[in-house]
Formats: sequence, C-alpha cells, structure tokens
Amino acid sequence: MPKILIVGGGYAGFYTALKLEKWLKSGEAEVTVVDPLPYMTYQPFLPEVAAGSIEARHAVVAHRRHLEKTRVITAKVTHIDHATKTATIEPEDGDAYPFEYDIVVVTGGSVSRTFPIPGVADNAIGLKTIEEAVAIRDRVISNFTKAAALPAGPERDRLLTFVVVGGGFAGIEVFAELRSLATGLLKRFPEIEFDETSFHLIEAMGRIMPEVSLETSHWVLKNLAQRGAEVHLDTQLTSAVDGVIETSSGDRFESDVIVWTAGVMANPQIVRNTDLPVEERGRIVTRPDLRVGTADEIVEGAWAAGDISAVPDLTGGGVGGFCVPNAQHAVRQGKLLAKNLVAVLRDETPKDYFHKNIGAVAGLGLGIGVFQSGKFAVKGVLAWFMHRGYHGLAIPMWERKIRVFIGWFDNFFLGRDIVALPAVQEPRAKFEEFASRPRV
Ligand SMILES: Cc1cc2nc3c(=O)[nH]c(=O)nc-3n(C[C@H](O)[C@H](O)[C@H](O)COP(=O)(O)OP(=O)(O)OC[C@H]3O[C@@H](n4cnc5c(N)ncnc54)[C@H](O)[C@@H]3O)c2cc1C
Repeated sequence: MPKILIVGGGYAGFYTALKLEKWLKSGEAEVTVVDPLPYMTYQPFLPEVAAGSIEARHAVVAHRRHLEKTRVITAKVTHIDHATKTATIEPEDGDAYPFEYDIVVVTGGSVSRTFPIPGVADNAIGLKTIEEAVAIRDRVISNFTKAAALPAGPERDRLLTFVVVGGGFAGIEVFAELRSLATGLLKRFPEIEFDETSFHLIEAMGRIMPEVSLETSHWVLKNLAQRGAEVHLDTQLTSAVDGVIETSSGDRFESDVIVWTAGVMANPQIVRNTDLPVEERGRIVTRPDLRVGTADEIVEGAWAAGDISAVPDLTGGGVGGFCVPNAQHAVRQGKLLAKNLVAVLRDETPKDYFHKNIGAVAGLGLGIGVFQSGKFAVKGVLAWFMHRGYHGLAIPMWERKIRVFIGWFDNFFLGRDIVALPAVQEPRAKFEEFASRPRV
C-alpha cells in the first residue's frame, strides 16, 4: 500500500485528507497527516475571534474528530528529503524520527512576513493562529479593565491605544472588528470616554484592501474615520521599540497592542529544509495539476497546494501569474489535489487547477461589511450578512457551522461575551501563592 504523507493539516491539507478519505478505495493507500496543531484553523474567523464575536474553539476543526480514516500525527515536519522519500518528524516532546513515504503532499501554509523594524519582533503580535486571536481579545479587554482603574495620563493612553500594521484584508478586518469591540466595551466601562480610545492602522501603500475596487476602499476608509479609527496611508512603521510607535510621517505614540498583518510568506521551516524545488519567492514550484515541478519536469511522488505553493493561475489573474495566497484557492486546490492524486495512482490523467476569483467579502465589525465581485459592490449591513452567511457555511463540517451560527444567534440576543481570561497563561499562580511548602 503506498504511504501518503500530508505535511500540514490546514485548509489545503485538511481538505486533501478529507477528500482522500472519500476517493480512495479501502486498502488503496495509507494516509498520514502531520501538523504541530491538532486542528485546522478557519483563519477568516480570526478577526471575529479577536473581537469576541466568535468563541475561539468554534473557529477550529479538530483533525481527530473529522479525519476518521487518516492517521493523525501532531508534530512538526522539520525536513523533507524527497531523494530518499524521508521526512523528519519532530514531536513536541521526545526525539525527532524519520518517516518514510511514497507520496508527499506539501501543504504547510504560510507565516507572517515581517521586516527588520526595531521592536516589531519583541512587541508585535501576528494574526495567523487562534492563540494570537485569543491573546489579542484578552489584551484589549484587560487593557480596558486596567485603564478604568487608572487616572488620566500616559499609562492610561498607552493601554487604550491600538495599532494594526498592514491594510490588506486581514489587517482592515481585525482593525475594524477591534474598533467595534472597543466601542461596545465603552458601555460597560463608564470610566472611559470614547475619545480616550485611539485606533491607528499603518499602511505603506496609498490605498487599503487591494482585493476591492478603489471606490469600495474609499468607502471603508470613510466608514472607519466616522467610527474613530484612523488609517495612515503612505506611511511606514519605523520603530516599535518598547511599544513606542514611530512612523515615517513623524508620528510618535505609545501602544500596548500592535497587531502585525503586513503580508505572509511560504512556511520557511518547510521550504528551507527540503530538496523539493523552490522558486525565488520561496514557494514550492508547482504545476497546474498540483504536482511539484515544472511543465517539462515532474517531481514524481510530490504534490503541493495552498499558500506554500506557486501554482500557476490559468485564469490569467493572480500576482506574477500565480494563484494568490487565499482560502478560496487553498480549499479548491486541496480538493482537486486529492482527486488528481487518486487519478495518478490509477494511471489516469490529472486535471489542471482553474478557478476564477468569486469576489471578496469582509466583516468590519457588528453590522458593517463590504462585498466586491468584479465591479459589483455591496456595502454596509447587507454585506455584513453576506459575510456571515458565506463564512458560516464555508467553515468545514456541519458540527462547526452549527456551533458558529448558534454562537452568533446567542450574541445577537445576549451581547458578545466580554470576559477575558489572561490568567490561563499562568494557571498555577493562584494555587502557588497560598500553597503550603515543607519548612527547611
Ligand atoms: C486573519 C486572516 C483572514 C483571512 N481571511 C480570508 C478570507 O476572508 N478569504 C480567503 O480566501 N482567505 C483568507 N485568508 C487566507 C487563508 O486563510 C489562507 O490563504 C489559507 O489558510 C491557506 O491555506 P493553507 O492550507 O495553505 O495554509 P494554512 O491553512 O495556514 O495551513 C497550514 C498548516 O500547516 C501547519 N504547519 C506549519 N508548520 C508545519 C510543519 N513544520 N510541519 C507540519 N505542518 C506544519 C500549520 O499548523 C497549519 O495547520 C485569511 C488569512 C488570515 C490570516
């Protein structure tokens, strides 16, 4: 039985495994998925998790619950040596060990791409994982709690100043969602005035959200400005040392929450530790049929999809002729990859990946959204319903969809949950404080 190893159980990897379970006949192949996380993260929900509108665990999909015929290994792949068809698996505890395979599927995704700006590595936080989204939510709510107990002054200002770097889709969504959370929190914190909260988004380019039309992006800017959220266009972050924000426009202020969303890059842990071909932007060289390789040269037994791969965009769109890193592609590539892999196993011909962008929909806080497909745009509350409808149905597995919809339904009547649990980072602190110790 051929051994199929899927490296990464995110969007592309999860769907590849799910569909292989469907397409493979019993005994046709053995499938293993390796991921350091025991779940697939539905990343489009991260801004709403950060804003407390979606319960964190509802935005992830447990591998072991939903991949019933796949072997799941919760560990990192730290090396892929395709010449010997061996991957190195490194569990969180215990020694690394070799794993031999016949076919490898590389779906290790991407990580936040940063630049060597002083202070960013030490003070900022990304928005690629559920843990980051939860930490942001807890920090915002805790900062309100702390600020409410302080007199007016620099420390209170610092706690109530929130910064997002990067005006792409993810950046604008989390910025707008956090503004919405903060405005909602003000009702519960009568000690804090609206004008004391300040929100800054720093974007190096002259516009935000390249996925929507310029006109729609202007609408978003205006909407954010009306809600008290300032976008600094054509501005670069030059320093964030000790949380002191300095920009190329000469602004200088302190912030306790700096969210970095200025782009992604193919997972370096995987692309830097493999003999599979990697192109100049660091992605795995991938053919339209999702096999690794070029039009002339196929790397037998190797497949790739999602953010880590450079898949030619046959629609003529994409950046530089390749599919952009988004979930629309990752999901569809994962599904096709499973079909193609089974086809090749059965000596049939794989199909090329072809997907025309279906548009973009963003949630910008409670009751506000934008949708864009070609020249057609919807803004405001209708687009927000479209956002929720689309993503509520797009998260994999009915068990998850139902949890998300019920959560939204509950929030509609009960309001969002504003409890932060930052103490879970040090759960033993309370016990230790009063625990008896043997006398010495
Ligand atoms: C905040 C945010 C909002 C977004 N909103 C949208 C949206 O509205 N629409 C849209 O189309 N796209 C959106 N995206 C983009 C989309 O989520 C990604 O393009 C998509 O997740 C890519 O799928 P993937 O399978 O390539 O990677 P991922 O889903 O990131 O999966 C990669 C997996 O690899 C695992 N992994 C990492 N290192 C290793 C290792 N060493 N060994 C094994 N496994 C490893 C990871 O744990 C992860 O599970 C958003 C992204 C973010 C961050």
